[in-house]
Amino acid sequence: MGALLKILLVDDNRTNLKLLRVILEAHDHVVKTAIDGLEALAFLNSDSVDVIISDILMPRMDGYRLCYEVRRNPLWQDIAFIFYTSTYTSKADESLCFNLGADDYLVKPTPIAEFLEAIEDATKAVHRKPIADPSLNDVWRQYSERLISKLEEKYDELQDKTDELNIAHEQLINLLEHSPAINYALRIEGQHRRASLVSGNIERIFGISTEDANMDWWTSAIHPEDRERVAASQRFASDQLSLTHEYRVRHVNGTYIWIEDSSRILRNADGEPSELIGVWLDITGRKEAEEKLRNSLETLEQRVQSRTSELAELNLDLVRAREAAVSENHSKSEFLSRMSHELRTPMNSILGFGQLLELTRLDQDQSDSVRHILKAGRHLLRLINEVLEISRIETGNLTVSLETVDVDEVVEETVTLMRPAAQEGGITLTAVPFVNRHIKADRQRLRQVLLNLVSNGIKYNNPGGFVKIQELTTTDSNVTIEVVDNGIGISVSMRNRLFTPFDRLSAAETTIEGTGLGLTLSRALTQAMDGELTVESTQGVGSSFKITLSSADSPSPADSLFSRGFLERKLLEQLTGKILLIEDNAMNLKLLTRLFRECPAIQFVTAIEGREGIQKAIEFRPDAILLDLHLPDMSGADVLKELKGLTELEDVPIIIVTADAFSNQSRKLIEAGAFRYLTKPFVLNDLINAVSDALNK
Ligand code: ADP
Repeated sequence: MGALLKILLVDDNRTNLKLLRVILEAHDHVVKTAIDGLEALAFLNSDSVDVIISDILMPRMDGYRLCYEVRRNPLWQDIAFIFYTSTYTSKADESLCFNLGADDYLVKPTPIAEFLEAIEDATKAVHRKPIADPSLNDVWRQYSERLISKLEEKYDELQDKTDELNIAHEQLINLLEHSPAINYALRIEGQHRRASLVSGNIERIFGISTEDANMDWWTSAIHPEDRERVAASQRFASDQLSLTHEYRVRHVNGTYIWIEDSSRILRNADGEPSELIGVWLDITGRKEAEEKLRNSLETLEQRVQSRTSELAELNLDLVRAREAAVSENHSKSEFLSRMSHELRTPMNSILGFGQLLELTRLDQDQSDSVRHILKAGRHLLRLINEVLEISRIETGNLTVSLETVDVDEVVEETVTLMRPAAQEGGITLTAVPFVNRHIKADRQRLRQVLLNLVSNGIKYNNPGGFVKIQELTTTDSNVTIEVVDNGIGISVSMRNRLFTPFDRLSAAETTIEGTGLGLTLSRALTQAMDGELTVESTQGVGSSFKITLSSADSPSPADSLFSRGFLERKLLEQLTGKILLIEDNAMNLKLLTRLFRECPAIQFVTAIEGREGIQKAIEFRPDAILLDLHLPDMSGADVLKELKGLTELEDVPIIIVTADAFSNQSRKLIEAGAFRYLTKPFVLNDLINAVSDALNK
């Protein structure tokens, strides 16, 4: 590397100057610059340099002239002179340069190493004096030619550039014209702003020419409702670099267009805001879509609201309908209660007197007749009961009271009741005593189920067949009662219809009596007692119905003292005490009066009204009271309440005797202090047992 040099760069192109300076300074040279020949000469007059590197074409004084002036001045003869010029060059340029005394002639771009080498070589060269004098005609002509041709080249080049610029400008204008955004620039002059550029598409978008689109127009075109907001955000914007806000601007046709105005502030060298450039974007479509969305959301909300209130209304209707249904059900229950009473009361007389007749001494014919009356009565009773029970299940009124029940007792009752039918059909009916005798059941309901199953076993059987009630192997907690027969059986295809109400399967085509309700009821009743009723059957072989119920602990022997066995004169004779019957039904009065007449040690008093009954109870001090629930002057429940309220009578057991079979009432009455609750028509044995229990209490 050569010694440090002081170099003067002469070029009217500042970029070139900058580039060369960087390169040379990077190689430790000191660099001075001048933008043309005159400035270079002025510099040389006050300072000295080692090398001059000059361009050719420059304003005021070109490089040729500069070289000539340097070379002919004896003071500057030691300075190396290099031409460094653009590509448009010819041999003629080069030779003119050398003739003017240049040391070297470099064409841009020259590789840096070569460039540096040329500088070093030039400093060592013996500098020639100009052999050409521009003032001489020949050189002058040569010089002029070179200059003119260079200027022409420059002109062509400029022309090309201008064309390119024009095309670019046109493209830009075109782009702006068709752009959806309006471009603008505002000069900031103190407190004032002046539109310096507005793209032509403003005419298409707002119907106003670019000349008319000045600040006054803009201020007046902003929607009155948006003016305050726009002004406020602009005051705020002068402190920030960019701002985006949305507002409405009036088209010349009077309609408003929503625009998004995004602008940016440019600052001058002193950091003062000098210009604001920005774009306006037409966002009317977006705003309309937003509005639509908002509206449809509102509509949706309204629809949801109205649907919600419709649903609430519907719900209310449902609640009303449900209330109506409940009250209808209630009325149905009421009706059933009444009907049950109406039907059971005469049945009570038929069966009661029939049973009484059986007790008297009768000849064979008479006793046969009585048996027929009782049989028919029981059938009728069964029909009434089943229809009532089915209705009760339908109205949700089926309730059971679970207590410890002796299965053998119920089985025995069933067998006794069914034996005549079995004999009639030539069927052997037997019961095997139970090992686990005590179960949790509703005694009456269980008997009802057993009666139905046994009755079926007899009905759907062949003469000579059997029906047997027996205990099946049971678990600790359950007892299974099986009613098995070797009757006609049930085909596989019909088995799933067994528990369908009123479906009598193939029995419908026979003369066998039935309602098709028995099994439906039996299953519902068993389930109500927390049990299960299942069936196994083979056509032509027989059927097995199984009732599974929870087992219970055995009660003390005293409890069942009177509970076994059937109505016997002996039992009646053992009864001792005073009994008051409060009952308005004449037939029942007669029946019970005759029954207790059979009891020599019983004092029996009757009353046909509630008030009268209470009075007689006070006077007569009975040991037990039999009370009907339907009385002419007051309800049996009220009589019970009053009697229990009297200190002298509070311990007297009161047995409710009613034709109303609704057992939810029975629970209420037992809670109110009743001793027992018997439903008419009762098996007299139950009544005697109840009275016996009451008297022995
Ligand atoms: P039904 O009043 O007709 O006896 P159930 O509900 O008690 O009504 O019985 C329904 C039907 O099931 C009967 O009609 C009969 O066809 C059939 N069935 C019931 N028990 C037996 C049985 N032990 N053997 C054969 N078929 C039976």
